[in-house]
Amino acid sequence: MINYLRLSLTDRCNFNCIYCTPLEKSGHLSHQELLRHEELARAAAAFVRAGVRKIRLTGGEPLLKKNIAGLARMLKAIPGLKELALTTNGVLLPELARPLRAAGVDAVNISLNSLKKDVFKKITGSNSFDKVQAGLRAALRAGFKSVKLNVIIMRGINDGEIEDLARLSLKHPLDVRFIEFFPVNKRSSRLKGALFTTAELKARIEAAFGKLRPAGGGRIGGPACNFKLKGAKGRIGFISGCSDDFCGDCNRIRMDCVGRIYPCLFSPPTHALRDLLRGGASEAGLVRHIKKAFLVKSKYRKDSPTAGHIEMSSIGG
Ligand code: SAM
Ligand code: SF4
Repeated sequence: MINYLRLSLTDRCNFNCIYCTPLEKSGHLSHQELLRHEELARAAAAFVRAGVRKIRLTGGEPLLKKNIAGLARMLKAIPGLKELALTTNGVLLPELARPLRAAGVDAVNISLNSLKKDVFKKITGSNSFDKVQAGLRAALRAGFKSVKLNVIIMRGINDGEIEDLARLSLKHPLDVRFIEFFPVNKRSSRLKGALFTTAELKARIEAAFGKLRPAGGGRIGGPACNFKLKGAKGRIGFISGCSDDFCGDCNRIRMDCVGRIYPCLFSPPTHALRDLLRGGASEAGLVRHIKKAFLVKSKYRKDSPTAGHIEMSSIGG
C-alpha cells in the first residue's frame, strides 16, 4: 500500500556532499518552473486523497524554500494527513526549528555524518559544522515528536566515528540511523569501496556497546530496522538500501519540485502534475492521475533494467 510521499521542494542546496551533488553542474531550475506553495499544497492534498498518510519534505535543501514554515502549515492542515516530516542538512534549523514545530511539523531528520569539523567539511564542502550542531540542539529543544540523525558511513572517510555517532543515542532522545552509502550518480560512483554495510556496522557497534536489542518500527512503516543500546534514551536504526532488498515492502512514492512523480527511486518520472495543476484540474482529476502512477509502481525495483543514474539532490533521497 502506498501511503508515504517524499516531496522534494527544491533542487538547490547550500552543501556540496561528496555522495550527492552531481558532478556536472546543469544549472538550477527557474523559479517559474518550481511548484509554488499553493500548487504544492493542492498536489499534496490530492496525494492524501489517494491514500498518502505521511509526507516528508526533502530536496535539495528543503529549508531553502521561501517561507517553509508557511508551506508546512498549509500541508499540515490537509484533512487525513497523519504525519508531516522533513529531512534537512540542519544548517538553517537554529532559526527555523521552532517555527517549523509551531507550523505542525511532527518529525525532523538531520543528515550528519561526522562529529569532527574537518571531516564534516570534507564530506559536505561546508564550514557550517557549528551551525548544524546548534541546529540539532534547536531541534531537540523544539519538541518534535521525533528527531533522527541520518548518518552515512564511508570507509576511509568517517568510519572511525561509528561508535561516537552511535553513542549519541545513549544520552539523547535521538534516533541515530545508519543509511548505507549508495553509489547512484557519477560523483558517488567515484567513491570506490566506500560502502560500509549494515552487517559491518552492527558488528562494530555490538563490539563496543554489547548486543543491540530490537526496538520496533516507525509510525508509518519504512525500511529502517530499529534497535536500542542498554539504558539508551534513543534508538539506533539501519537502512540497508544497498545490501538488502526491501522493494517488496516499499510504501513510498516521490514527487520532485516541478511536479514529476517517481513511483520508485530507481524509476524515471512516469507521470507529472504541473500542467494539470496550472491548467486548473480538479482534485478528482489530480487523484486519478496520481493513482495511475501508483499502479505502475510494481514494475520498478532497485535492480530493474531501468535503474541507473539518479540524482538524490533533485529527487530527495
Ligand atoms: N538536503 C537534505 C539532507 O541532506 O538531509 C535533504 C535531501 S538529501 C538528498 C536526503 C537524504 O539522501 C540525506 O539523508 C542524504 O544523506 C541521502 N543521500 C544522498 N545521497 C546518498 C547516497 N549516495 N547514498 C545514500 N544516501 C544518500
Ligand atoms: Fe545537499 Fe542534502 Fe545532497 Fe548534501 S545530501 S548535497 S545537503 S541535498
